[in-house]
Amino acid sequence: MIFGPVNGCGRTGIFVNVEKLSNFSDFEELDLLDDILDALDDAGYEEPTPIQQQAIPPLLEGRDVLGIAQTGTGKTAAFSLPVLQHIAETETGKGKRRIRALIVTPTRELAAQIGESMKGYGKYLNVKHTVIFGGVKQGRQVDALRRGVDILIATPGRLLDLENQGHLSLSDVDFFVLDEADRMLDMGFINDIKKLLKLLPKQKQNLLFSATMPESIEDLAGSFLSKPVKVEIAPEEPTVEAIEQKVMFTSKADKKRLLPWIVDEYDMERAIVFTRTKHGANRLVKELSKKGVNAAAIHGNKSQNSRTRALQNFKDGEIRLLVATDIASRGIDIDELDFVVNYDLPNEEESYVHRIGRTGRAGRDGIAISFCEKEEGAYLRDIERLIGFEIEVDEDHPYHDASAIPSEHDSKAKKKKRDRQKRKAEANGDSGQSNNQRQNNNGNGKSDNNGGSKRRRRRGGRGRGSNKSNKSNSNSNSNSNSSSGNKPKRKRSNPPLTKR
Ligand code: AMP
Repeated sequence: MIFGPVNGCGRTGIFVNVEKLSNFSDFEELDLLDDILDALDDAGYEEPTPIQQQAIPPLLEGRDVLGIAQTGTGKTAAFSLPVLQHIAETETGKGKRRIRALIVTPTRELAAQIGESMKGYGKYLNVKHTVIFGGVKQGRQVDALRRGVDILIATPGRLLDLENQGHLSLSDVDFFVLDEADRMLDMGFINDIKKLLKLLPKQKQNLLFSATMPESIEDLAGSFLSKPVKVEIAPEEPTVEAIEQKVMFTSKADKKRLLPWIVDEYDMERAIVFTRTKHGANRLVKELSKKGVNAAAIHGNKSQNSRTRALQNFKDGEIRLLVATDIASRGIDIDELDFVVNYDLPNEEESYVHRIGRTGRAGRDGIAISFCEKEEGAYLRDIERLIGFEIEVDEDHPYHDASAIPSEHDSKAKKKKRDRQKRKAEANGDSGQSNNQRQNNNGNGKSDNNGGSKRRRRRGGRGRGSNKSNKSNSNSNSNSNSSSGNKPKRKRSNPPLTKR
């Protein structure tokens, strides 16, 4: 068996099996108990999904698993079936049932959903489970725990709360599943998870599922998984080529002006706007409402109710812009969405593909517009490396900032190095600006548009740059003066922004 580092997991030193993974096309080949196979039959499942094919065999062998997959891939069965089989095969006989499998998941909806699935998959087994989550009285949950369960499905807060009150013990857990780990961290559960890990026995089988693999999840995975097998299911790949993509270079401060400008310019009826942080999303919604653009934010700090309401209002056309963070945007499935705006570029290039894949669905055209300020140049270059082509630059807008254009060879690694040097220079009382940057700047903080624009013009160098943009931006010294070109969704005139 070959072991190697998980992509990007070098920091935490996780080693995983990179052997070619199994490809079972039948549940019968997976060595599942007949009682489970019967239940799957009843559920109408004919064959395992890819994540089930890959995760079930190592889990049945007792291995730790690091699963990268989203809801909708069949991941619940991927961990529930081995959990049920493990409990059924290691029945402890008479006496009160003890919690031997713990599944922790971020939201009560997910917890309830897993509970329902467990009920179906385990209908022919002598295995008991219960679900506990916050926001409701604890009485019935405590009663169920008192009667004894084999499998506990829980959200972190209520779990720790009931453990703290002595209503449950985690000392017999030998199968631990951490579901939707990235969402959990996004919702601020990291300290709860750390506390929880301390309460669990060291000797146990572990499974972590996450839709994305940022460094924080790598660290978390490294803290409790032991030689995990990594299984990964790429989410349905949107065909990025079908989506018209543009990047607009601007300054950080001008992004909030550029957004209403493009909403009007492209006559956007509905768009999802991505920000990197929850606070950024809230701030932006306030800015937009000052300018008369109806918008709502959805992110991990918003209650389930408020997210559902925002989404409904968006679908009904009452809200024009839905401002979302990456994780909150998962599960947003709107077929008629023409525009995605990356207000902030994601620092993980895969997120770019997921974000823009929200548009261009069901055979429709889609436009993805990304704002890029100086600090994000490295992200842009990494995204372009991933998608395999350079994104068309649109400098035909009043807030163009050529100094935000990164070099061809920029990357996150180089950015990190630059940031380190900058910090050092600042500590030494220097401005931290490189000679290059000093030369490019034209004295007012904006660099010479002229040279930059020419250098960066791509894909046949669409020479755009309208009178309008020259008129409306006293800061911009772009001298590109060709006509507006062939832009199907872009308006010719520029009426004042109105609330719709
Ligand atoms: P999940 O990603 O676990 O939320 O599952 C998404 C949906 O797929 C649920 O409705 C499951 O019931 C269904 N599902 C899971 N595994 C299978 C399978 N092997 N065949 C058919 N449907 C499945």
